[in-house]
Amino acid sequence: MDYNRVYNFSAGPAIMPTPVLEEIANEVLNYRGSGMSVMEMSHRSEVFQTIIDEAEADLRELMNIPDNYKILFIQGGATLQFAMVPMNLMKNGVADYIVTGAWSKKAYLEAKKYGKVNLLATSQDKNYTYIPDCSDLPVDPNADYVYICENETIHGSTFQKLPNTKGKILVADQSSMFLSKPCNVSDYGLIFAGVQKNVGPAGLAIVILREDLIREDLDEKVPTYMRYDIHAKSGSLYNTPNCWSIYVCGKVFKHLKKSGGLSAMQKRNEEKAAILYDFLDSSKMFRGTVEKEYRSLMNVTFVTGDEELDAKVVAAAKAAGFDNLKGHRSVGGLRASIYNAMPKEGVEALVAFLEKFENEHKA
Ligand SMILES: *Cc1c(COP(=O)(O)O)cnc(C)c1O
Repeated sequence: MDYNRVYNFSAGPAIMPTPVLEEIANEVLNYRGSGMSVMEMSHRSEVFQTIIDEAEADLRELMNIPDNYKILFIQGGATLQFAMVPMNLMKNGVADYIVTGAWSKKAYLEAKKYGKVNLLATSQDKNYTYIPDCSDLPVDPNADYVYICENETIHGSTFQKLPNTKGKILVADQSSMFLSKPCNVSDYGLIFAGVQKNVGPAGLAIVILREDLIREDLDEKVPTYMRYDIHAKSGSLYNTPNCWSIYVCGKVFKHLKKSGGLSAMQKRNEEKAAILYDFLDSSKMFRGTVEKEYRSLMNVTFVTGDEELDAKVVAAAKAAGFDNLKGHRSVGGLRASIYNAMPKEGVEALVAFLEKFENEHKA
């Protein structure tokens, strides 16, 4: 069926798989004979318990999450995790942060409120266009964890190799790359992701953390909602969760399983990104902003080098059915977010459009 949808390159909230949207539409007046939609349903009902249990089981299967890791569904998006991570994991009151863009910078500044936070490495010197060498960093012997943002949504860079944490726990913000490729969960102590980039509706973060990191001996001023132990003990149902987002995320997990899982996603995502980056590398008008080996598969950032021309491209693209190509307000330029749900045809059509634009605007 043709819904007259545009190609949506938004960084988040972002494109969703059409079959998932269709399923939800079909269930919105009566979810499987319950006589109501999921948004009208008690979070203590058996029907909802099945929804959250299946979501968790499907995610565990998709990512191959070991049994000694908990999966938590927490409100407050990824931003709340910037505070929850230090509040819950700082035992010695020390943490090492690697700052590679706007999101790790925010997390770093937030963590500073809770302890001694070291700037272990940064790519700020070149406007976050690369990932620093993290093979032999001066990790603080007292650090409770080393923190990265594995894919910088705004700057368009990604870690190809995880840092050498010298035995310390690795904490990763995976918001804009979550489920884009296989992930070896046991390399991490904690992974979190705001779901509105690559999974579902905004307002939910998924936290995957190793059980032995869950502490009960926290400062008593830590708000109850911000304690991982509370969420873990209550199966993410301490209070009313974001039922709707959990339901939709569960649909996406099933959709990904049916589509071949995360290896298949990686293959598709690499193909899609190559189409766009190859064009940028051959273009005389556009160029990618991130050094080649650190380019993101998900957020492709590029510029013409002329702000006015950038704006012209964005406007012409929108008129042609390619929406949300404007770069983040803090960096300008252009950005095409090509998450799991963006079909290859969308990227091919965008490249055809950019090629045509370039030909028509030759100096
Ligand atoms: C979008 C984003 C965030 C913030 O997510 P919210 O859900 O808006 O709090 C944090 N980190 C990364 C990498 C992001 O892309």
